[in-house]
Amino acid sequence: MAHTSASAGALLRHVRTGRARSRAELVALTGASRNTVSARVDQLIAANLLEEGGRGWSTGGRPPTLLRFNSRAGCVLAVDMGATSVDVAVTDLSAQILATIGHPIDIADGPGPVLAEVDRLAQQVLGEAGLTPADVCAVGVGVPGPVEFSTGRPSHPPIMPGWHDYPVPSAFGRYECPVYVDNDVNVMALGEIGVAGSSQDLLVVKVGTGIGCGVIVDGQVYRGAQGSAGDIGHIHVAQPDGRTVTCRCGQENCLEAIAGGGALLRDAVAAGLPVDSVRAVVELAAQGDGAALELVRNAGRTIGTVLAALVNFFNPHRIVMTGGVARAGVPLLAGIREAVYRRSMPLAARALDITVSDAPDRSGRVGAALMAIEEFLDEDSVVEALRDTTAVVRTAPRPGAVPLSH
Ligand SMILES: [Zn+2]
Repeated sequence: MAHTSASAGALLRHVRTGRARSRAELVALTGASRNTVSARVDQLIAANLLEEGGRGWSTGGRPPTLLRFNSRAGCVLAVDMGATSVDVAVTDLSAQILATIGHPIDIADGPGPVLAEVDRLAQQVLGEAGLTPADVCAVGVGVPGPVEFSTGRPSHPPIMPGWHDYPVPSAFGRYECPVYVDNDVNVMALGEIGVAGSSQDLLVVKVGTGIGCGVIVDGQVYRGAQGSAGDIGHIHVAQPDGRTVTCRCGQENCLEAIAGGGALLRDAVAAGLPVDSVRAVVELAAQGDGAALELVRNAGRTIGTVLAALVNFFNPHRIVMTGGVARAGVPLLAGIREAVYRRSMPLAARALDITVSDAPDRSGRVGAALMAIEEFLDEDSVVEALRDTTAVVRTAPRPGAVPLSH
């Protein structure tokens, strides 16, 4: 059996994800010595991140004491920013939402006013959960544009004027904890896998005004060398009628210029449909309008040709569609499936599941929380947190609130 890391963070991950339930199982899984594992487990118990509870089955000798993750050892703030609205939630360390609030914003107002509003909402939501800024272990933020993940700075975001290179984490200084910022599609992709510990390979494709893709490899976001992995909206697609469409990026016949929400609206208006928004086109299709249905299905076929190539290359377990256009559901999926199953290799397509998101409204917040939790509890941060006594939280049950104190 291949052994894995035995750092405190790794041991915590094994228990959180259910791969190990006792010291003995951690020893077997990591190949580390019993003393090393015991010492690190004791540290994690002292930090209140692990708890002992119950006895397991004996395999001869004394039955082992079971270990479990204490998801109430701290809380995280999750911020899901869109172009016109923001949702802020406070969750426990398993991404269970304790309190949440949404508010309209205009992302084009720039980072100053928008982040001031986010700060106000965060304090309100913490108050509702009976918590204070000192209780927050980590902050996760999703924004509707490309982000350099290592610094939390947006990079030339097309729909976020004034945000280029802005240090988003600096707006959360009052929490004195790590702040992680990523683009909304990566965050939603994490929200789709939900609980930590998924080992799936997954593509989460957001079809809104633009088209983007979150790439999940073995349960974790794959960001690539500079953080732009999954930027599929500007892949070139051939047009059967030889038509050329210029994309907002300046290139011709990009996927999103042909099959994104903006393109769908443009083509619907050109076809004489009485619509003034992408939502209206999607609603018309939902009502069974033949022309709207055909436009949505065609967009699905075009998206499907690109996804077929991605399926051959990446062989995912699942593809999940999300975003405004994905609300169209069946006609979009029909077009996508038609192209994917026709064009991908049988082995890759055999067990492939292509669905629409079950909870598109929630996945942004849950994903932002999971990003913060996974990063905060990763190997180095946990060891740091164990060294830094201010980051160690102890259980102190309080009625109606996540048990926390410092
Ligand atoms: Zn383009």
